[in-house]
Amino acid sequence: MRVKKRSKNRKAVKFYSTCFGFREPYKVLIDGTFVHHLLTQRLLPADDALRDLLSASRTPALFTSKCIVAELRRLGKSHAESFDSAQLLATTKCEHDKVVSAVNCVLSLIGDKNPEHFFVATQDADLREKLREIPGVPVIYGLKNSLFIEQPSVQQRKFAQLDEEKRLNMDISEYKKLMKAASEGKTTASENGSDGEQHERPISSLVKNALGVADKSKFKRNRAKGPNPLSCKKKKPKPQPSAIQNQGATADGEAKRKRVRKRKRSQKDNKQAEMAS
Ligand SMILES: [Zn+2]
Repeated sequence: MRVKKRSKNRKAVKFYSTCFGFREPYKVLIDGTFVHHLLTQRLLPADDALRDLLSASRTPALFTSKCIVAELRRLGKSHAESFDSAQLLATTKCEHDKVVSAVNCVLSLIGDKNPEHFFVATQDADLREKLREIPGVPVIYGLKNSLFIEQPSVQQRKFAQLDEEKRLNMDISEYKKLMKAASEGKTTASENGSDGEQHERPISSLVKNALGVADKSKFKRNRAKGPNPLSCKKKKPKPQPSAIQNQGATADGEAKRKRVRKRKRSQKDNKQAEMAS
């Protein structure tokens, strides 16, 4: 179970690195609810817990913002410990001269495209839902003493399939349209014809890998149809058995005849010798 969870988290991180250019050291934007969760569940030190979650080789950088810290202070005594801890984290610069709610601050920091490549860690269900509607925002949350990365939504995956140029030029309303189509389970291709080819194109192998979709053809092997001809000895042509016998017979016959001839010659010699003497 644990292994399965880990590999799911790993896949999610890989998806965002491949499709949205997230690079180590990862940046995690942490809101007050998450700081509170880390403290109450004793998931400390937090950077180790998050590094483990992200399967990162480098310690991720943790950020809050001025508005997030201010909200924790407003919550008073019950969140005093969280406020103290949040103050120790780095603050990313937000554009609010007058503090706004933590939710609005996070949303403004993420913007339309999450240019800073933040992972957002929050326990706020409403905020999580809003973040799901923005492409390229991985969300971290905790359940008791375990941390999770939300799996990329169907919309995020669809978005990642578009080519880079289209992605960069897409505004949030177009993205929402794409999202709506995805959640209704129909392809945008059927909805508007001109964009059809974009969506019908096969998923790039990179995305496939990121999603853990095995490319079947990649693993198909050509089966050998017989023994490897390079490791076999050359076949010798088999001589005909009858030929061997015949050859043997003729050889034998020849030898016999020679022997007879020899004998005859020696007899002749003997006779000649007798005659001479
Ligand atoms: Zn702010």
